[in-house]
Amino acid sequence: MWTVDVDPAPLAALAAQLDEVAARRLTAGAERARTLLTGRRLWNVSATAGGGVGELLRTLLPYVRDAGIDARWLVLDGDEEFFRIITRLHHVLHAHPGDGGPLGAEEMAHYDRVLARNLDEVRENVAAGDVVLLHDPATAGLAPELRRRGAVVVWRCHLGTDATDGLTDVAWAFLEPSVAQAHRVVLSRATYRPGFLDAGVVRVISPSVDPLSPKNRRLGPAEARRLLQEAGLLTAGEGGPGAATTASSGPRHDGDAPAGAAADVPAGATMRAGGPVPANARMLLQVSRWDRLKDMTGLLIAFDEGFENLPGDVHLLLAGEEVAPHDSAAAAVLADCLQMWEGLEPAVRERAHVACLPLADREHNALLVNALQRRAAVIVQKSLAEGFGLTVAEALWKGRPVVATSVGGIQDQIADGANGLLVRSPTDLQGLVAAVARLLAEPAFAEQLGVAAHDRVRRDFLSDRHLLQYVDLLDELL
Ligand code: UDP
Repeated sequence: MWTVDVDPAPLAALAAQLDEVAARRLTAGAERARTLLTGRRLWNVSATAGGGVGELLRTLLPYVRDAGIDARWLVLDGDEEFFRIITRLHHVLHAHPGDGGPLGAEEMAHYDRVLARNLDEVRENVAAGDVVLLHDPATAGLAPELRRRGAVVVWRCHLGTDATDGLTDVAWAFLEPSVAQAHRVVLSRATYRPGFLDAGVVRVISPSVDPLSPKNRRLGPAEARRLLQEAGLLTAGEGGPGAATTASSGPRHDGDAPAGAAADVPAGATMRAGGPVPANARMLLQVSRWDRLKDMTGLLIAFDEGFENLPGDVHLLLAGEEVAPHDSAAAAVLADCLQMWEGLEPAVRERAHVACLPLADREHNALLVNALQRRAAVIVQKSLAEGFGLTVAEALWKGRPVVATSVGGIQDQIADGANGLLVRSPTDLQGLVAAVARLLAEPAFAEQLGVAAHDRVRRDFLSDRHLLQYVDLLDELL
């Protein structure tokens, strides 16, 4: 296991973003939490420092520390096979087969072995009376031993599906012995509760975005443009659509030298296909991990099939994080996108781009996501399943018009036609392109959705609400 260092961030600055009542509530909540946690540590354990969970911990824990609470964040060590099993669990919990592999006794034995190794370190650190928040399936197996040692254990599952056709049973059977040992289980939607869990131990808490984090803080158009140009995501010039991209700027693979027109990408460049997006193009954007359920390839197909129905200045950018070395599933999704890009007609290829955002500096990565989201004409989230979908909340917060599939937690964030557009079925590619085309053709409508989008997040999905719900949870547990 390794520790992610968490520096405090001023809670007063967050309070200053809120109205007076909410600000007072937040300050009182911090006081309540400090009292409750006197003499205890608050541990968070996650599988990685990235994705939605990483984003949440990175934004919430600094405020918790500023409140005078000894909050810590540990990340599991696991091998490739462990992460393969975890990705499979994630997909099956979302009612998708994933790689189709089993979740049986052998997988369970491997999972237990990896967690046993991690437990040695937990044992040295976690004391009786400490509170431990275990995030997602990868960490659930730590619950029984932690409970035996006298810790207060909360399992926070960020995944789930509304589907009730039994597809998820095998994943829940895998997790049940562990999850049943947690004092409380926190889910993102009430409908995600598995049958074996009594409603009395489940609490529903939605994720949130931090208005002051590098990912969501104010960023003017000039600063956004500069960041994107420096990163090689956007051309420096103002040439016509496609001016700086050529069909020869083919996919790059790790370690390859930039090919073709990618030569005008600066060092540390992130473009994997299509070269930088022209500075005067209207950008259609999806930002996601390279995960099948985000359906980046589906979006590329929709763009290709609907190409004739989109204005000529529209460029698609698929942006995801650099792929971690152990993450073969993500590498496969990225490779599929690049291969699919290769097979496109040159005219389509010229207006489709694939980028990996560098991770060496998390703050810089978050700023790039911020800049992309602010720059985008329309933001898409074409997920096949989504526990919550922080990328959607991030886009709404920035007042961007969003088109998303009506799955999982996205339904809690977007009211169709009021603060974004929902596409009923992930297979409805025509519907998706039509929604995008409408927003591009009707800027006043897009603007109106954006204003409502920002208000929606302000009302329900900012960090203060999230923190206070955790304080309520601690209140009932301690
Ligand atoms: N993200 C990022 N950099 C990237 C790609 C994604 O910081 O290059 C972030 C994204 O902005 C969001 C998180 O990863 O904050 C993804 O969370 P979400 O809930 O959308 O999906 P998850 O990855 O948890 O399934």
